[in-house]
Amino acid sequence: RAYNFNAGPSALPLEVLEKAQKELTNFRGTGMSIMEMSHRSAAFEEVHNGAISRLRKLYSISDEYEVLFLQGGASLQFSMIPMNFLKAGQKAGYVMSGSWSEKAIKEAKLFGEPYQVASTKENQYRNIPSLENIEFNSEDAYVHVTSNNTIYGTQWSKFPNTGDVPLIADMSSDIMSKPVDVNQFGMIYAGAQKNLGPSGVTVVIVRKDLLEKANTEIPTILKYSTHADNNSLYNTPPTFGIYMLGEVLNWIEEKGGLEAVAKNNEEKANLIYDAIDDSNGFYTGHATLESRSLMNITFRVADEKLEKQFLVEAAEAGFVGLAGHRSVGGCRASTYNAVPVEACQALREFMIEFQSSNS
Ligand code: PLP
Repeated sequence: RAYNFNAGPSALPLEVLEKAQKELTNFRGTGMSIMEMSHRSAAFEEVHNGAISRLRKLYSISDEYEVLFLQGGASLQFSMIPMNFLKAGQKAGYVMSGSWSEKAIKEAKLFGEPYQVASTKENQYRNIPSLENIEFNSEDAYVHVTSNNTIYGTQWSKFPNTGDVPLIADMSSDIMSKPVDVNQFGMIYAGAQKNLGPSGVTVVIVRKDLLEKANTEIPTILKYSTHADNNSLYNTPPTFGIYMLGEVLNWIEEKGGLEAVAKNNEEKANLIYDAIDDSNGFYTGHATLESRSLMNITFRVADEKLEKQFLVEAAEAGFVGLAGHRSVGGCRASTYNAVPVEACQALREFMIEFQSSNS
């Protein structure tokens, strides 16, 4: 298997892929692939409801929340959130911590009056705004944050307390990477393709009282309540993706749950951060220390010419996906849940070796 550091879609657990391979043509004695059966069949409903209940269990989600499986990626959520929750003329606060926050606020401008609560753009998004700088109004429809900034490699460690104003988090790139108290949020959403499964499924965890107050004059399929009322089976869901998501959640349970996954993620990220920090400036991290992400490690090789060589040699050595996002350049190692410790250890050794051969 390649050392896969892709930012998304990303590595999946080998055990899950092998199980899916075994079940591909004859799903549990049905004589059909999961992809070939009706989404209304008992066999699929069991898969679907099993995935929802595992997600609920892992995050200890109370009955006050709906768990939905949608399509359209996290990007459609940038539009669905304001469409459902922002009334014309109403304000919503957006914390700007990277390109995905910028994309989210852009869509909200089409529906209401979102404004920037705080931004770290001036600091090239090297850090998460400090909690004291997050000032919003109690009349705001919601406050939106991006919990992990995939491109810049920063991550929130503690979220602002927004009181009665619902806090909405785009957790696309760190969902299920550590325990989280869901009760702090009005809504959490994430595209599945980094920590949860293949692309094509979007997970939405939303507080029921928000659905009751949501706008009604919007297309049926874009209302959260439509999907909540139909157990996410209003239209044909991405059945294979939901099956895979359920299996990935099962794998998380088997690994010892979110505490164990978090510990493993910390160990993995530290292997690489230590190689950066111990390099005497040969490698430089993009994020400030207190905002560093455990999911996306962004760094530069200080000498620009050597950086190109680093990426070429890394690719030759079997490391996949280490080039930074096309908008920022540099290097990025995405160490999502399914990336094994051995891959991070191998990258660390490669970085140390590359430094010693080139300095
Ligand atoms: N939000 C974050 C934090 C992301 O990392 C991404 C994709 O990388 C997106 C949103 C967009 O997700 P999608 O491609 O599922 O629309």
